[in-house]
Amino acid sequence: EPGPETSGPSPASLVLRRVFGYDSFRAGQQDIIEHVIAGHDALVLMPTGGGKSLCYQIPALVRKGVGVVVSPLIALMQDQVDALTALGVRAGFLNSTQDLDERRVVEAAFVAGEIDLLYLAPERLRVESTLRLLDRGTISLFAIDEAHCVAQWGHDFRPDYLALSELSERWPDVPRIALTATATEATHAEITARLGLREARHFVASFDRPNIQYRIVAKNEPKRQLLEFLRSEHAGDAGIVYCLSRSSVEKIAAFLVENGIDAVPYHAGLDARTRAAHQSRFLREDGLVVVATIAFGMGIDKPDVRFVAHFDLPKSVEGYYQETGRAGRDGQPSTAWLAYGLQDVVQQRKMIGTSEGDDAHRRRLSGHLDAMLALCETVECRRVQLLAYFGQRGAPCGNCDTCLSPPESWDGTIAAQKVLSTIYRLDRERRQKFGTGQIVDILLGKKTPKVDQHGHHTLTVFGVGTELRDGEWRGVVRQLLAQGLLAVEGDYGTLVLTAASADVLKGERQVPMRREPERIRPAKAAKAA
Ligand code: ADP
Ligand code: ZN
Repeated sequence: EPGPETSGPSPASLVLRRVFGYDSFRAGQQDIIEHVIAGHDALVLMPTGGGKSLCYQIPALVRKGVGVVVSPLIALMQDQVDALTALGVRAGFLNSTQDLDERRVVEAAFVAGEIDLLYLAPERLRVESTLRLLDRGTISLFAIDEAHCVAQWGHDFRPDYLALSELSERWPDVPRIALTATATEATHAEITARLGLREARHFVASFDRPNIQYRIVAKNEPKRQLLEFLRSEHAGDAGIVYCLSRSSVEKIAAFLVENGIDAVPYHAGLDARTRAAHQSRFLREDGLVVVATIAFGMGIDKPDVRFVAHFDLPKSVEGYYQETGRAGRDGQPSTAWLAYGLQDVVQQRKMIGTSEGDDAHRRRLSGHLDAMLALCETVECRRVQLLAYFGQRGAPCGNCDTCLSPPESWDGTIAAQKVLSTIYRLDRERRQKFGTGQIVDILLGKKTPKVDQHGHHTLTVFGVGTELRDGEWRGVVRQLLAQGLLAVEGDYGTLVLTAASADVLKGERQVPMRREPERIRPAKAAKAA
């Protein structure tokens, strides 16, 4: 034995084997579990399907007391508890779906320490009686699942999640583990700040899914293209086709059935029984295609999904990653296929323009969309781009469309320098930051009221970019964002330089850009809409 003393298997690996029936930990799990068992805080970033649940379930079983799991996924709580019960783990949940009697039973079990895991909807923690209940039992840990809900992204849950910052004040000795699959660098920082997790160790798993082949195609005859894709590459395979609206879900499902493909629709407008029936057929059968809105898939764990096709552009890279991540959990080759066209951009810009919420919220939605557009337009490896979005590095993968057939590109170095130097000058000479619109207006030499107001017509870069049109400049900006040569800051979507921008400004780095086809011109599209 290399170690100083021989010891048997750790309590964690015993629980892994005896309770969950697994032989070994997945990448990252063991370190996280030992860290939490030792009583420390953790922030866990792991892709969907990576195995986050065990990271708090095992410590909850090993440590004394009840593990309190805060989760916004109320609809899944019963399933989660049932699954644990089937393994012999004592678990319960408290949420708004229960009546008083059901709640009392769970509360008593918690206080008596007769359960190991208690799932709570976040809004419960805003109720003083829940906090007093928690005081009466022994808590082994707090797990905050879907922790990105605390950040801007999780708009809907935000007030509930903000209450979680008080956990550490009330129970300073109870370790907390926050888990998320959808954190970018910024979200990451926000989770840390909002949950008061400054002391927490960060565990960041790789987001790479090497067996998924990423492909994004130009949308011209979408139905025919989808059918062709299914027939030529995934005949008889199980898969998901995502559409943005319920009506297109219905239409596409009917279209596929007409063309001999075994397909069913799934969206929130269908009654619960139909949805449950279609979902269970998908899980049970080998080759069913589910045509769905994004309502489908959360918490679904089917290992042999061979493809995920997006018939419409996803609203964010997070969404795209999460949805495509449902393919190939068994590690076998799978395809993530997306058809993308001008109409998608028109539609989504319109939806953002009319969405509820304040301007800041709309700017965030725009930022998410822009990042998704950047992924669509990249001339680089899609995987490298995707990983970069999550703050991770990768090398060209050889398993995505841009690696397999590199797109036509043009030398965008000078255009890039014009954009970057405009931003540089505004920042250096005037201590000002602006969004894409103003930068483009300056380059085009447009005398708008805002240009007047800030005296931007006196800048040396004013009007130096008339060789490209408005939409083309936006394309340049998006591609700079995509290549990490520009970044978006704060709620206002202001553009700022990155460390890498200097190389371009100094002429030390070339900037290849994807040839912008006629169909991708969001600025023009937005006007038309
Ligand atoms: P996440 O919450 O990260 O999306 P889950 O915790 O639901 O992922 O785990 C995804 C799947 O992987 C589940 O079916 C789970 O049982 C399985 N799993 C997790 N850890 C292991 C392991 N160490 N060995 C085998 N399977 C595992
Ligand atoms: Zn690639």
